Amino acid sequence: MMIKTEKVLHLKSSRGGKVRVVREHYLREHVPCFSALCQAACQNEGKILSGDVTHYVVPDAGVVRDFLEVLEFRELQGIVFMQTACQAAQHSRRRLYNRLRSLLKDPRHHCIHFANEFQQYSYCPREKGESQEKWQTRCIYHAAVWYHDHLAGLRPVVMITEDQEAVAEYGSRTSGVYVISTQEYLQSFWPELQAAQELYISICQARQERESESTEREYTEHLPAEVLEAGIKSGRFIQGTLNVNKHRAQHEAFVRFEGSSNKSSELNSDILICGGKNRNRAVHGDMVAVELLPAREWRGRTTALHEGVAEDKAGEEPQSQPMPSGKVVGILQRNWRDYVVTFPPWEEVQSQSRNSQRILVTPWDYRIPKIRISTQQAEALQDHRVIVRLDSWESTSLYPNGHTVRVLGKSGELESEVQTILVENCIHVPPFSEAQLREMPVNSAEQPWSVAPEEVSSRLDLRDTHLVFSIDPLGCEDVDDTLSIRLLPGGTRLELGVHIADVTHFVQEGSLTDLEARARATTYYLADRRYDMLPAVLSADLCSLLGGVDRYAMSVMWQLDAESLSMCKVWYGRTLIRSSYQLHYELAQSLLNGKPAEVPELERLDDADVRSRRRAELLEALRLLTRVARHLRAQRDQSGALELEGVEVRAQLDSSRNITALVPKQPLEVHETVAECMIYANHWVARKIQESFPHQALLRHHPPPRQEFFNQLIDSARTRGFTIDTRSNKALADSLDQAVDQGDPVVNRMLRMMATQAMSNALYFSTGACSEEQYYHYGLALDRYTHFTSPIRRYADIIVHRLLMAAIVAEKDAAPSKALASNKELEELAHQVNNKNRAAQHAQKQSTELFQCLYFKDKDPLTDEHCVADAVIYAIRANGMLVFVPRFGLKGALYLKSRENQVVAVESDGRCVWQAGTLDRHLDRISTSTSMGTHTFRVFDHITVRISVQPARCHPLNLCLEVVSSRPHQAPVAPTETGTQPKGRGRSELVQEVVRLAEEASQQAEEKKGRKAKLPKDEREFRQSKQPNLYSLLQEIAELALLDLQTCEPPRVEAQTCSISA
Ligand SMILES: [Zn+2]
Repeated sequence: MMIKTEKVLHLKSSRGGKVRVVREHYLREHVPCFSALCQAACQNEGKILSGDVTHYVVPDAGVVRDFLEVLEFRELQGIVFMQTACQAAQHSRRRLYNRLRSLLKDPRHHCIHFANEFQQYSYCPREKGESQEKWQTRCIYHAAVWYHDHLAGLRPVVMITEDQEAVAEYGSRTSGVYVISTQEYLQSFWPELQAAQELYISICQARQERESESTEREYTEHLPAEVLEAGIKSGRFIQGTLNVNKHRAQHEAFVRFEGSSNKSSELNSDILICGGKNRNRAVHGDMVAVELLPAREWRGRTTALHEGVAEDKAGEEPQSQPMPSGKVVGILQRNWRDYVVTFPPWEEVQSQSRNSQRILVTPWDYRIPKIRISTQQAEALQDHRVIVRLDSWESTSLYPNGHTVRVLGKSGELESEVQTILVENCIHVPPFSEAQLREMPVNSAEQPWSVAPEEVSSRLDLRDTHLVFSIDPLGCEDVDDTLSIRLLPGGTRLELGVHIADVTHFVQEGSLTDLEARARATTYYLADRRYDMLPAVLSADLCSLLGGVDRYAMSVMWQLDAESLSMCKVWYGRTLIRSSYQLHYELAQSLLNGKPAEVPELERLDDADVRSRRRAELLEALRLLTRVARHLRAQRDQSGALELEGVEVRAQLDSSRNITALVPKQPLEVHETVAECMIYANHWVARKIQESFPHQALLRHHPPPRQEFFNQLIDSARTRGFTIDTRSNKALADSLDQAVDQGDPVVNRMLRMMATQAMSNALYFSTGACSEEQYYHYGLALDRYTHFTSPIRRYADIIVHRLLMAAIVAEKDAAPSKALASNKELEELAHQVNNKNRAAQHAQKQSTELFQCLYFKDKDPLTDEHCVADAVIYAIRANGMLVFVPRFGLKGALYLKSRENQVVAVESDGRCVWQAGTLDRHLDRISTSTSMGTHTFRVFDHITVRISVQPARCHPLNLCLEVVSSRPHQAPVAPTETGTQPKGRGRSELVQEVVRLAEEASQQAEEKKGRKAKLPKDEREFRQSKQPNLYSLLQEIAELALLDLQTCEPPRVEAQTCSISA
């Protein structure tokens, strides 16, 4: 039964007028309460509020609007969001809507939505003369009382409000229903949750401060939304994302076009936004509407290198041709995130500000403007890294307003710096929750895990029929791929098998583990640690395809013609395997090369005959595998697969499994063999899911690069007389192979590095979102590709496993167990995974740079041998050049002109000094002329540089390079050509030394406090895996990859091929 009534709403129009809206409103007797304590048999479906709490809490509209962040603490339980409160809050702050929605949807948060306005007995119509706010508060109180009665008073209900009159009026009106202030609530119910109270206070202060703000206008008002919309439609305004130049953050920003919004087709470049007035309160990342300035006001972009933090005066610098320039007229969407800032020293605060509660803090990210914070904590927070959120930026305020959220620690300390990098990249990796760990299977000494009987019957059992083995780096613990190969009876066909950890057997779609893995999207590898995507019981145990134990797998098996190796038949499905050998690369290669090598699994056998028979069996399998992989690789080479820069490093472990060194290895063919099999499996799974689900399969493509990105490569190659043909991947691959300078192997590596930099990113996408031509993977030269082989550390592979299972089920004409994600949902998911991958790469790069800086920080550049190194020039800029330092794998800018207008002069022995003079820049070279003569620096020249650290209090530390000599560095130790100095070692020593110093520092600090160091707890908190993971190091080096010049032959490991995609 429904009752019809009318509801009158007074809405504010965007022009500021009031609009009266009358809505028909239907009331029902039965509206689900979503509580586990329901006494009335409500139809509660979906997320249910647990009854396992001491009380339920009902925030009123004001609390939802202003303090939603506090309610977002996962520790707070039993929250009932009343419809009235949500609607009111959304009307006043549109950005709230998404946050509220995701909060309500997320099962990790204990909150529900109750449609109180549709419930016949909880609804109360607005009375004559009653203000909207008063009515809303009354409605919510009424609903709280109804809720309490509905649950037969099983739990008290606490309504929280900022409205003191409401507290006075309703506070003790109904027994069992309490009305108190938010602050009192937090203090009395959650005294342990200090962070929530601090956040509450911080938001309050920010709000109070805003109310007392001045009215003098600093910026032009933004245009109303409908004007912006019409202007964009008509082509008068251009829509795009604001991108601030971090080297000239206050002066220079660009707006990138967003697709079709640009009607004026003569514009095909970015639009330059010069200065703060034109930027008009837009923050880096915001979606803005821009109006072009008249052409006479257009400016050029700066082309000079920029020295660090201090910004030079605008105008004096070399600029490019004037380009379309514009001003921001409105903000279409704010894309604010959490920012890490540093509080100024207390003396500075006291001397600068009349009002010392109002502090200007400096964000870590150069591109973000200073933020005004109201706090009484400024003294305690000085020199700390603190997370803040932006609240508003009024036209009357020179700076945006924000509030503090959480303190990360003192700036400069390793832990605060690493946490800063995570926050800045929006990486959230809390320890796995207990609820989530309860979903995990158990495998302990008392309760060993074993194969379930129903799995034995439903899977293809390969345990007795197939020789399965893995090949990984030495010491690898998370084995997600294994291989098998055999000659089939009859001898005319071979069977190749790739068997991947069956992660989706353990991770149910929609479970807490699944949601957490989806949110992380990947395992994060930093210089000194990693954060896993899945709990260790899966990643290092039950999903790891270790030797000698039964494991579930997802397999792809091909039948190949034994002669021609052409593909005859492919099979996909779930299997049960027991890996016989856990080989490492060097061991497998030694076996193949016929060298003496001990296989531990064989050494355990007593019977010499059996041993030699098994050894021959294994060897035969490895040989077959090599033959097949060579064939597959040759096929891809013919279609133009690219060989880009990679690096081969082996981590050497000591007895306690610490990494003692990263040792260079000649690339082994077996690396390539394994990689080729993985690429083959990924390709065939891509074909399968794309054919089964032409509009909703997750694939990975690598779009061809834009030709103009190759200019630097082409120009640089020309200086050494090479022609690079970039018309196709095949042509590029061939011409890179040709471009070898006999005198200097560095040249070819540098060219490959430039080619890598010109590449676009490989990206995940849904097949329904692209046309088939766009499926192509340029780097691998495959028409279809996806990720299937690493489900332990990539969420994309988990999606692909589910799609593959759905395809297999569909083939059997069985009903699918679950509806597939639609194209749109899958495309959104692909987008989020792509974003997280990018964040992971940035974080990895930044943490590596952090370690580089910490390594050099305490060294005296003038006396320490480590601070002087060989460098190679790879690009020329207006006032200097970009160089690469192979020994430490770092890149940087090197200035040839100082601020005092002196230039680098070169003495007869190569030593460099500063002198008055001039610079002359060309495409491939730059010359300095002084009274001492002229010296020309050319691309690919080797020079000697000194490395020092530029101090920075608020921003990331920066390495500073200066040229010491125009000649190659003569190392005091043996020259690198002899191979006595393993490449890469510098980096690993670097990481170790920094970690050791940080640990010593923290230990000393603890001892000073008279307490014992509490490292184990810290480890629990920050590191989900204590042990450094080999894969991480390999990956990380692969990333820097690009950079290491000491190996001549790059490997073709799949992971590395894809990291071009970085
Ligand atoms: Zn109910």
